[in-house]
Amino acid sequence: MLCNPPTGFFLRDERCQIDMNTRVAENMREPIQLLYLAGLVKSLGYEVALHDYSFPRYTLDDVCKDIEAFKPEWFYMETTQGTFTPDLEFMASLRQKGYNMKFLLKAPFVDRDYLQEKLLMRPFFKDISCYFITRDAEDTLKEVLAKGREGILSSVFYWHNGEIEVFDHTIDQAHKRFKLDDYPIPPRELLNKFDYVRPDTGEPIAYIYTAKGCPYPCVFCSAPVYLGKTINMRSVESVIAEIENCVHEHGINNFFFRSDTFTFEKKWVLSFCAHILDKGLVIRWGTNSRVDKIDREMVEAMKKAGCDIIGFGVESGSDRILEHIKKVITTAQIKAAHRCVKEAGIKSFFHTIIGFPWDTHETIKETQRFLLQESPDFIEVNVPYPLRGTELFAIAKEHGLFISDDLEAYSHVKPILRTFTLTPEEVSRYRKQILRSFYLRPHYIFSKLCSIKNPKVFINYMKWGVAFLGKLRRA
Ligand code: SF4
Repeated sequence: MLCNPPTGFFLRDERCQIDMNTRVAENMREPIQLLYLAGLVKSLGYEVALHDYSFPRYTLDDVCKDIEAFKPEWFYMETTQGTFTPDLEFMASLRQKGYNMKFLLKAPFVDRDYLQEKLLMRPFFKDISCYFITRDAEDTLKEVLAKGREGILSSVFYWHNGEIEVFDHTIDQAHKRFKLDDYPIPPRELLNKFDYVRPDTGEPIAYIYTAKGCPYPCVFCSAPVYLGKTINMRSVESVIAEIENCVHEHGINNFFFRSDTFTFEKKWVLSFCAHILDKGLVIRWGTNSRVDKIDREMVEAMKKAGCDIIGFGVESGSDRILEHIKKVITTAQIKAAHRCVKEAGIKSFFHTIIGFPWDTHETIKETQRFLLQESPDFIEVNVPYPLRGTELFAIAKEHGLFISDDLEAYSHVKPILRTFTLTPEEVSRYRKQILRSFYLRPHYIFSKLCSIKNPKVFINYMKWGVAFLGKLRRA
């Protein structure tokens, strides 16, 4: 049985660990890791159950009913830095209810000391045995299911009898083994597709892996740390087969192609777009890109193949901050990429972060001015939430920038860091101010409403606007 636990409306998507209650312009995504793992487990001859209990409508009782009906031998769940304690308590409650399945937890942010501190603090945890997987779960899951404890390859902590056993932690070893093409088609019939919909049209949307891992050195990002510094690409044919399955078997025509940088290999992108057209697939899709890894030819091919939105991790409108965070891009490159995308008629989504250690009043105002000038279709403004293992976590520790040790009490909208010159309260105020100044511009609202042709989309925009105002008030 694979699940996301009912411990919060939380996105548990590897490097994107986000409290969805705080999101301004996004909806809940399919639990993509669980889906692919479910396919893998099924292909090994196991019966598999898959449950996303992240939605607020689920409780522990729902989980218990499903466990009693399915009687799993193994229980796998994804945990995050922001939900680790409630997730451990959830697991302990299941054990206290007498369920004695074996637990596997994906927890890429833990190291031995952190685990020990978390587990030893809780006496009721002594009787639980659990595997903590700290890197890609595919190989570990395959081997553990086939051979049990002897099958563990690497990157695993085993908690048993109040002690931690460490298995070799070498990420690249695991990476070389598992090929994304080895994923069977994920069993989407195990989820309710209407739980995962586009924010504008309300139509079901599928999330499909095209690659994993990233070679860039961005100090705040966990992708190179948790998923590897080399890009593990999936073949075009394999991705197309999954799209066809979604279209023909599940009636899903909207997609988000999930990779750390979708446009990393131009040849791959052009071939992918050509395949979509050759197969006659009429789909609408979005993806993400680095601003220095996209050009006019790619963007035009993507548009022809149905791409209607591209997300860019622009992070900051200040070149000084971009340099400090090792993003390896400039504001000039952001502008150039944005121009290509706009000219091709594709919507743009800028993901930004304010409150980096080096941010000042001036750099944050620079970011605000930059966003207003560029005026992408959507923005998200986050504050840094350093994940354990990242360079930013180490920098913040070294300079005493954490305002608390309680990582779970903070988030991407509630700053846990002060900068060298700003307080967390000042950063929070700037966040609200930027969002308000961006989304509440009369011209922006007017042009968005004028661009809507479909009444359903109009209603969804109105609902989204009301939710946005509520979130802003609570932020
Ligand atoms: S480019 Fe930077 S932010 Fe984007 S996935 Fe790679 S390391 Fe992370």
